[in-house]
Amino acid sequence: MGKLQMTPDLLRSLLQGTAEAVIAQAEHLTALDQAIGDGDHGINMKRGLQNVLADLDNITAKPPAEALKAVGMTMVMKVGGASGPLYGTLAMTLGKEWPTDDELDSSKLGQILAVSIEALKKRGKADLGAKTMLDVLAPVQQALEANKSIAEISVIAQQAAEATIPMKATRGRASFLGDRSIGHMDPGAYSSALIIQTICQLLEEKS
Ligand code: ADP
Ligand code: MG
Repeated sequence: MGKLQMTPDLLRSLLQGTAEAVIAQAEHLTALDQAIGDGDHGINMKRGLQNVLADLDNITAKPPAEALKAVGMTMVMKVGGASGPLYGTLAMTLGKEWPTDDELDSSKLGQILAVSIEALKKRGKADLGAKTMLDVLAPVQQALEANKSIAEISVIAQQAAEATIPMKATRGRASFLGDRSIGHMDPGAYSSALIIQTICQLLEEKS
């Protein structure tokens, strides 16, 4: 990934495109959560992101750092499930760590994502390998640090979600199933991969 200047317009199209893509997959996210959770992941994400879309004019009137914090707050406040506060923490920390000149490159983005992942781990008291969204976000962070291309990052996200299938969940509701959580993709890993892949696709279309 080369240099990227985040403008309010670009952030708006990334937020809108990502929210719409996740909402379009809400039923699939819910089906994944029916297998190893309580079947609400799609509903949770849809509720949070519909609120983001409804407030998109206000959100994107702010500078990108503040806009990301606002997205995070919306996810924390509007989503009942675990995923809302976790994605909310991620977005709020990205906003907090955001560069003042809105200029990003692979290593800078990798750096702020690393801090955000640490915040998420703390909030969820989880680490890698627990079969959660972290198992997608962490490899993506490493790919950014290694300056991989946007196309490669997209593939890495997808493969990382697939790699949660053989894992045994040790965090979140799926952990209640113990060994029976093995053999299913983690719903949060899938939503994270979908978010990353959509952002990658939108960035490639713009470049
Ligand atoms: P809930 O588990 O409250 O029903 P969701 O169904 O919306 O919430 O989200 C479930 C997803 O959240 C899981 O698939 C997993 O990826 C993620 N998750 C759950 N608990 C944690 C945690 N402690 N740390 C990181 N991610 C978690
Ligand atoms: Mg659930």
